[in-house]
Amino acid sequence: MTSKFDNKTTWLFDLDNTLYSPDLGIFKQIDVKMKRFISKELKVSEKQAFQIQKKFYKNYGTTLYGLMKYHNTDPEEFLKFVHNIDFTNLKKCEDLRKKIKNLPGKKFIYTNGNYEYAKKILNSLGITNVFSDIFDIRKANFFPKPMKTSLNKLIKNYNLVPKEIVYFDDLDKNLKSAFLKGITTIHISKDNSKKSSYIDFRFRTIINALDMIRNKLEH
Ligand SMILES: [Mg+2]
Repeated sequence: MTSKFDNKTTWLFDLDNTLYSPDLGIFKQIDVKMKRFISKELKVSEKQAFQIQKKFYKNYGTTLYGLMKYHNTDPEEFLKFVHNIDFTNLKKCEDLRKKIKNLPGKKFIYTNGNYEYAKKILNSLGITNVFSDIFDIRKANFFPKPMKTSLNKLIKNYNLVPKEIVYFDDLDKNLKSAFLKGITTIHISKDNSKKSSYIDFRFRTIINALDMIRNKLEH
């Protein structure tokens, strides 16, 4: 029997809230740091800073993109500040490492964060060495997901074939352009509402997704 996962050669993983649970509060810390950065940098109240943060995030995919576009913010300064967080909630997960490693083909991280931050997350989870590379926001020239430019750069950078790719992300809007290119899309979410048409599968956790794929590949 054939499955949607036969003949896949490339496995793309979002980082935050996909490879670890949102309940660990990692991304929440970054959210607070972003608000502080904007408040300091633009000399506005934290309340105003929060509104600016969310507006940019909604319009462009990252707060940073809006800050660069309208306020000439130095991306390196911003990234260093917002990623300076406490990682102790993340624990090594041998099960996750094995399950990712066992997928047939190359594995990449695809994140709107920077390389150094992604490395810290992967090291904390004990899964660094299973990935061929980290496609971070710098490699994307600061064009964030869900912009098509970002995904196109990634595909070109590694010379990938869309129909051979499986992509995991916790944000369904990031999956849309991937789906339209013929990439198999997996939404990692506890959301129970109806799936968008550009989500092929939805799982509550990355482990659930990897177990299902293993199962399909073995039968
Ligand atoms: Mg994410």
